[in-house]
Amino acid sequence: MARCDVCRAREARVYQAHTGRRLCDRCFIEDIKNRIRETVERFKLLEPGDTVLLAVSGGKDSFVLLDTMPEIHPPSKLVALSIIEGIPGYNKPQDILKMREYAKERGVDLVITSIKEHVGEDLHGIVKRSRGRGLAISACTYCGGLRRRLINTYARQLGVTKTATAHNLDDEVQTMLMNILRGDPARIIRQHPRAPRLSDKFVQRIKPLRYVYEWEAAMYSYLKGFKFQETECMFINEQPTFRARIRHWLFHLERYRPGTMLRMLQALDEMSRHLVEEAEGLPPLPTCKACGEPTSYGRELCKICELLQDVGLVYKTPTAKALTVHHNPVQGTSS
Ligand SMILES: [Zn+2]
Ligand SMILES: [Zn+2]
Repeated sequence: MARCDVCRAREARVYQAHTGRRLCDRCFIEDIKNRIRETVERFKLLEPGDTVLLAVSGGKDSFVLLDTMPEIHPPSKLVALSIIEGIPGYNKPQDILKMREYAKERGVDLVITSIKEHVGEDLHGIVKRSRGRGLAISACTYCGGLRRRLINTYARQLGVTKTATAHNLDDEVQTMLMNILRGDPARIIRQHPRAPRLSDKFVQRIKPLRYVYEWEAAMYSYLKGFKFQETECMFINEQPTFRARIRHWLFHLERYRPGTMLRMLQALDEMSRHLVEEAEGLPPLPTCKACGEPTSYGRELCKICELLQDVGLVYKTPTAKALTVHHNPVQGTSS
């Protein structure tokens, strides 16, 4: 029996390729928690007075966020939000309700909402309309944009000072490389942990799992006995092919030289630090003529209004009723 390289007492069960260590369950879990805590401290992501909205889906990364944050920040200052996209077979009501139980056990309330509540159609319905009009827009574009919008408007209405998402290292390195290969410095800056807020309508976003590998989040959840949803999103194959290629390429690089992704993101974060400081002098973003939310420089409509208008829909800002913890839009959504 191989012993853990850290405690030298318990049996090693996890091989952590990027450090070359074999770890027992407990030391592995501690290692992930420490890395998340260090990320929060290094970039000063949280101040003692902050209140934080945790954006959680039914997946493994969300579980890690929900499990670690109450140990880093007082649970009374946390509230979680789950968004039901309305994708047949995915993020089912029982997965979301299970998440609510996990949150409750950790002293955190979970607010549930759905895309349908705010748009009048669920994601499946939006995609059907889009196809019907011959638009070549992927489901991920609607889903990602609407999720970000909902997280931000709920955060504002709930009066929290930060939102935390469960993006892991793999997600972040893929996005960073896409931004570099597209030659888009504005997006590189926006992705930085210390990115400036270009509108007071944006609640600051933090990503505490930024330096945790996807496989580590999966292993953490597994070791903690979390049964994550096994059904894949039916739109998985619509993921932009550029991202899929980068993901594939990174996977091979990481296998050839473990730790590549971690070192790459750490170096890029360090290098873009001064760009981020310079961006603090930029003027505030203009607001969308239709919904009043911030939009990019030089635009009249925001991306969400544009996407929705093209399929004959309108975004409705969350109401007070939707903000209560006990409000439950699970009934009546596709399962
Ligand atoms: Zn150990
Ligand atoms: Zn708008």
